[in-house]
Amino acid sequence: MPRIVVLGGGIGGLSMAYELRSVIGAQAEVTVVSDTEWFQFVPSNPWVALGWRKPEDIKVHLPQTLAKFGIGFEATGAKHVLPAENALELNDGRRLSYDYLVVATGPALAFDEVPGLGPEANTVSICHVDHAAAAAERWERFCRDPGPIVIGAVQGASCFGPAYEFAMMVSTDLRRRKIRDRVPMTFVTSEPYIGHLGLGGVGDTKSLLESEMRDRDIKWITNARVDEIASDAVVCTEVGSDGNAVRQHRLPARLTMFIPAFRGVSCLMGGDGKGLPGLTNPRGFVLVDKYQCNPTYKNVYGIGVCIAIPPFEQTPVPVGVPKTGYMIESMVSAVAANIAASMAGKAPTREATWNAVCLADFGNDGVAFVALPQIPPRNVNWSARGYWVHAAKVGFEKYFLRKVRTGTSEPGYERLIMKLFGITKLRAEPPHSDPAA
Ligand SMILES: Cc1cc2nc3c(=O)[nH]c(=O)nc-3n(C[C@H](O)[C@H](O)[C@H](O)COP(=O)(O)OP(=O)(O)OC[C@H]3O[C@@H](n4cnc5c(N)ncnc54)[C@H](O)[C@@H]3O)c2cc1C
Repeated sequence: MPRIVVLGGGIGGLSMAYELRSVIGAQAEVTVVSDTEWFQFVPSNPWVALGWRKPEDIKVHLPQTLAKFGIGFEATGAKHVLPAENALELNDGRRLSYDYLVVATGPALAFDEVPGLGPEANTVSICHVDHAAAAAERWERFCRDPGPIVIGAVQGASCFGPAYEFAMMVSTDLRRRKIRDRVPMTFVTSEPYIGHLGLGGVGDTKSLLESEMRDRDIKWITNARVDEIASDAVVCTEVGSDGNAVRQHRLPARLTMFIPAFRGVSCLMGGDGKGLPGLTNPRGFVLVDKYQCNPTYKNVYGIGVCIAIPPFEQTPVPVGVPKTGYMIESMVSAVAANIAASMAGKAPTREATWNAVCLADFGNDGVAFVALPQIPPRNVNWSARGYWVHAAKVGFEKYFLRKVRTGTSEPGYERLIMKLFGITKLRAEPPHSDPAA
């Protein structure tokens, strides 16, 4: 029986394992390899960082859960991916061979690229649930003795939504505590304008997010390169459209949170720290074709944050393209269909739509956007602001965690509702060519 290994037990990896079980059934052995026994619902991390959720609210213990659905599980983690040998070397030295590999390892957080960045240095982080739990303790101390806050995303970052969410939620929480008047807030971002999001904006995100920041008295600096984060200040350089420095800022800060740039995790890096030739680009992101398949190693697929997507456009300060939840689920559907085809001796034909449906929660209201597809030019380019977004995001969290606990990839009603809105995960199959024609 063929063995399919899914490397990574996050949003992409678990959706992948469940979708494979649903599409391929018992015709293959499916094993998830993670480096932890726990699934974490990453989009809820900003809530954890403000104490609105406990870490255990957003975690699922994987060994028993996956066993219930006949999915193998290893929490040892991969040390090396050996695609020429169709095997993984695990962190305990064992080898695990595969017939198909789906890489879903998410990002490594490149805190080392900016002096003072990261939870081991001077900023809090919301990128991992453990970081968010530590941030929550820091938040309570800060609220007892408040001062200026700087939040944002550094050069090379690709995941801007959570930075906006965190800034707005912080302002909501401070207002609830009636100490907002003691906290000057600045948003510092590598984006060329507010609401760019690494995507040239979606619908009117520029106006929506600028207006939201004005409403909340949050100042902003765009086109910013963060030079250093000290324990009491953020030093950044604002650049012009030609990329040259126009102004340096030293912003006093008692609390800082910055989204770092991402790179590939260490098992996807060579000894020179430059990626694995053929499998990844120099930054360690997995190379995939339109079928999510690696062009060199045809039995290796990539999904989620770990795949290589070039920047959407050149910007004065580099920014990357975000890989969001629904977009990742569309990659999952394509990979399941293409592995099923390959097992049947056929060539892959299914392409993910990379459609994006996102909810950015601000604690009381929020901004939603639909980008079909996520990368412009788009067929649908819509954004809106409202109190309903907060409620929808809470509902989404409960719904996704239920799917993880019940081993479901996409229930029929979800597919039906999304289809009603014209949102699908797979592109239409190309018409069969008729050799007689
Ligand atoms: C704070 C934050 C909030 C976000 N909010 C949203 C949102 O609201 N909506 C949205 O659409 N998107 C959101 N995103 C973007 C995206 O949906 C998430 O980043 C999502 O978690 C990405 O899924 P993934 O499976 O690619 O990576 P991850 O969920 O990070 O999963 C990767 C998994 O691989 C494992 N792993 C890593 N290295 C190894 C190894 N060597 N061996 C074995 N396993 C390994 C990790 O432990 C992890 O379990 C958010 C991102 C962040 C950082």
